[in-house]
Amino acid sequence: MAKIKKLLVANRGEIALRIMRSAQEMGIKTVAVFSEADRQALHVRFADEAVCIGPPPSAQSYLVMDKIIAAAHETQVDAIHPGYGFLSENEDFARRVKEAGLIFVGPSAESMEIMGSKLGAKAAVSKFNVPLVPGTAEPVTDVSVAKIIAKEIGYPVLIKASAGGGGKGMRIVTQENELQEQMERAISEATSAFGDGSVFIEKYVSEPRHIEFQIFGDQHGNVVHLFERECSIQRRHQKVIEEAPSSILTPELRKKMGEAAVNAAKAANYYNAGTIEFILDEKMNFYFLEMNTRLQVEHPVTEQITGLDLVKLQIKIAEGEKLPFRQEDLKIHGHAIEVRVYAEDPANNFLPDIGTLKTYRRPQGHGIRVDDGFEQGMSIPFYYDPMIAKMICHDETRERAIEKTIRAIHEYEITGVETTLGFCQFVMHHHAFRSGKFSTKFVEQYFKPEVLKSEMTDVEEMIASVLASELISSATQNQPTDVVQKTESKWKKNRA
Ligand code: ADP
Repeated sequence: MAKIKKLLVANRGEIALRIMRSAQEMGIKTVAVFSEADRQALHVRFADEAVCIGPPPSAQSYLVMDKIIAAAHETQVDAIHPGYGFLSENEDFARRVKEAGLIFVGPSAESMEIMGSKLGAKAAVSKFNVPLVPGTAEPVTDVSVAKIIAKEIGYPVLIKASAGGGGKGMRIVTQENELQEQMERAISEATSAFGDGSVFIEKYVSEPRHIEFQIFGDQHGNVVHLFERECSIQRRHQKVIEEAPSSILTPELRKKMGEAAVNAAKAANYYNAGTIEFILDEKMNFYFLEMNTRLQVEHPVTEQITGLDLVKLQIKIAEGEKLPFRQEDLKIHGHAIEVRVYAEDPANNFLPDIGTLKTYRRPQGHGIRVDDGFEQGMSIPFYYDPMIAKMICHDETRERAIEKTIRAIHEYEITGVETTLGFCQFVMHHHAFRSGKFSTKFVEQYFKPEVLKSEMTDVEEMIASVLASELISSATQNQPTDVVQKTESKWKKNRA
């Protein structure tokens, strides 16, 4: 077994910091890489050593394999952790890291290759008794062929890019006369985003839930799942709030989906951390969507309910250790909710709203974890993903985790940019979310930007009334009028 003594993290922001923290606890030295835009970034300050790898655009820095491997040689590390995004799911990178005599903290290049395309992944898992969304097994290029297929599947259908990610190259088609235009758009979007224009057609499941399973495998053939994450609160087909466990799964369905997830991982001889994404329809039928061959953004909710540090586990697996537990040893403890704090304007179609964090105060207290890469006064670079932080609240029950999230969002102070906090507060108060009866259509069905636009929003009024009634009932000396003053927005842009 090769012990890792020094690790290069080929990433930036909160995830680079999160990985380095676990590495440091394991006695492993850390190396950061950074672009010229990230010279002052927290991951650079945290690392034992740091290497500049080029200009701000990621295509000239975080995505350049040669520069990262050269930095690894220069600093004499023995392993590279890719984080998420950037090169994390690039099988050539995994291969090159190995060829350079270094350990890649992740799956094998071969597994990544199998799961790298959505179509390839579907073909692989279908042999392992994993249910698929009805659709084509091959890429479609001819519109007349697509029309025949779509008719067979039945409208609405979804056109998807096989190389897709981040919701790009995905188009819903509700009737035949839209097919040609949407297909052309999907192909051109996929070509420009991924350099691969292959698209395929899937049944569009109306009002599904996105439920994914965290899996872990070792290099000795053992695979387990660490339960599910519910990720149905999305905008633009991308997650904003995640929770574990899902409020809708019965123990029986959890067992069935968990077994399917383990089988899907086995279909690719998978080891290290991975995620099997499913959608669940209204009749509780589940279908495989894709596998993500890396640590997910939302992995902390799984850590909170299992008590495991997934990064430490990834490192141990990469060193060749066996999984330290069996499936039957794992249990769910309480409930965790993650809200993603993006520098985006929910009142303006969630468009990025980057700028300087004039005020930045994290919430604190029992059961609250904030993973971020910023401090007050720092600017959010224009070049990268505009996520400021992930806030994870953990408590005994879902209800308590929701109440904790409400309190923590209320305590979070960010000015200088618009953020998704107000939107997340809206979700936490919404009856559909609270009752557990919601789908990926939540934003479309319930969210209206107007609730966030007024100075005193509906959400804040709701918080005010909840707080006021709590205060009254606990007979404290505070007057409800004070409470109303205190609930003025702290997430709004302070342009002054
Ligand atoms: P990406 O890799 O681009 O993120 P995914 O395949 O993971 O794409 O899908 C992202 C989201 O799109 C899902 O979480 C779900 O909300 C929606 N989606 C994907 N496929 C379907 C489908 N067949 N029917 C309905 N919604 C879907």
